[in-house]
Amino acid sequence: MRQKIVAGNWKMNTTVSEGIELVNQIVGKIEEVPESVHLIVNVPFTHLFPVSKIIGDIKCPFCKSKISLGAQNCADKEKGAYTGEVSAQMLASVSKAVGTVAGAPEGATGAAVEYVILGHSERRGYYGETNAILFEKMKLALAAGLKVIYCVGEALEERKAGKHFQVVENEIKEVLFNLTDEQMKNVVVAYEPIWAIGTGETATKEQAQEIHAFIRKTLREKFNALAEETPILYGGSCKPSNAKELFSQEDIDGGLIGGASLKADDFLAIAKSF
Ligand code: PEP
Repeated sequence: MRQKIVAGNWKMNTTVSEGIELVNQIVGKIEEVPESVHLIVNVPFTHLFPVSKIIGDIKCPFCKSKISLGAQNCADKEKGAYTGEVSAQMLASVSKAVGTVAGAPEGATGAAVEYVILGHSERRGYYGETNAILFEKMKLALAAGLKVIYCVGEALEERKAGKHFQVVENEIKEVLFNLTDEQMKNVVVAYEPIWAIGTGETATKEQAQEIHAFIRKTLREKFNALAEETPILYGGSCKPSNAKELFSQEDIDGGLIGGASLKADDFLAIAKSF
């Protein structure tokens, strides 16, 4: 059975204290989330440390295992003179650092930064991240022990021109087809049609299922049975009112949620929509 995942992408939203409040609200009601669903919060870099501590401090082991922490990007270089960049290794080192803060109890550690989003259309579009750059990031992230939420999706003109299958296929083949099976086990795919991101416009359940099935078929060409285990998330104006019909589709294993992940109640309502 594929893991069901609801992942929040906070983007460049919330101050650190607002982010702490938001994650505390989510954690406070995490028992409401069905056992079969896993939550991920992909927060800004500045929020990783306090959120790692909050998740690390969850008392009930079952609740703690239901939520993971993620980042939204990492560098395409290992380390060095790259002002402003944050490496995959740095992300992987956050959790241990929580225990070194003055006053931290003996043996305290935070929750690991377990995931990183790569290939989001905002990174591809605004920051010129090509498939070649994304493959470099992917290798470094996986080598650092992170799991990757890899985003693919077409623009409106590409869909209107009937090129959406081709665009998505290229994004998969040029990055994921270079991975080994072992690496691919740590990848989650997110299909996010660019025309549905932050627009209020959602792909219909039929449109979404059609391309999710296509993504799985494409993955099967290289990864065979592993394609059946790879979670494929839908992203693009997913909200409490449409999550249920999207998540009821055979090849939709959950959602990558932007705007609606900034309200704890909406995020939790989406997680309860399976
Ligand atoms: C996203 O950008 O990952 C996203 C899905 O955004 P929204 O839910 O706001 O459309």
